[in-house]
Amino acid sequence: MQFKDLKIIEPILKALKEEKYSVPTAIQEKAIPLILNRKDVLGSAQTGTGKTAAFAIPILQHLYLDRQQNNSPRKINSLIITPTRELAIQIGESFSTYGKFTGIRNTVVFGGVNQRSQTDALRRGVDVLVATPGRLLDLMDQGFIRLKDVEYFVLDEADRMLDMGFIHDIKKIIEKLPNKRQSLFFSATMPQNIVVLSKKILINPIKVQVSPVSSTADTITQYLYYTNKSTKKDLLIHILKDRKITQVLWFSRTIPGSERISRVLK
Ligand code: AMP
Repeated sequence: MQFKDLKIIEPILKALKEEKYSVPTAIQEKAIPLILNRKDVLGSAQTGTGKTAAFAIPILQHLYLDRQQNNSPRKINSLIITPTRELAIQIGESFSTYGKFTGIRNTVVFGGVNQRSQTDALRRGVDVLVATPGRLLDLMDQGFIRLKDVEYFVLDEADRMLDMGFIHDIKKIIEKLPNKRQSLFFSATMPQNIVVLSKKILINPIKVQVSPVSSTADTITQYLYYTNKSTKKDLLIHILKDRKITQVLWFSRTIPGSERISRVLK
């Protein structure tokens, strides 16, 4: 299967070619035709599977074709909600990359920074808005953003969103969306609370799953160590003393946390 077999329009195929993408990933192969057919999709896929392109490509295609029919001033026709600023930035970059020959404009809004450049971009007009929930609601309350023209809505990383306590924000956002829309819902895991939330958003969704829910690669052996905050660095040093370990990738939840680890290692 090649991208050109998925009925993707030329301006997007051209951008994919520049990115040297030729073969769609599993989630792209399954989700793109459904989304192009205007179905609601419940996608169970983790980051790294190519899920961003799986929703960005068909949304860009809808918007491009819609604009050919009706070239009115730009309104927010597509809204993507994602839990973190890093993800928001990545998604915005994906829309810019895959959409570079479509003329479809996106902007990204997230908290923790001055809102001025974000409101300036909104004023200039965008088709796609990528946002984290808190800043989105804030800008809506201030009157900078209205969601009445949203036709394509994506809730990305829904499980992380709930873990981060965004449930009330998400409910408030959903209330403001028009009923007539296409909705896409992505989550790496599908526990019950996520299924309940998805039912509030999707209409007759088609499920797309690329690897079994919450599965891990079977070539990887995993260990779980219980420890206290005060003894974590001793555990780290203990683990790293194992001479069989030649390369380590260490994740940490926060920036200050990763800086502490770096100090310990130095
Ligand atoms: P994501 O799961 O959306 O975070 O994407 C993971 C990475 O895969 C990103 O760096 C994309 O640029 C890349 N990617 C997505 N789709 C493809 C594809 N069909 N071929 C090659 N790389 C891809």
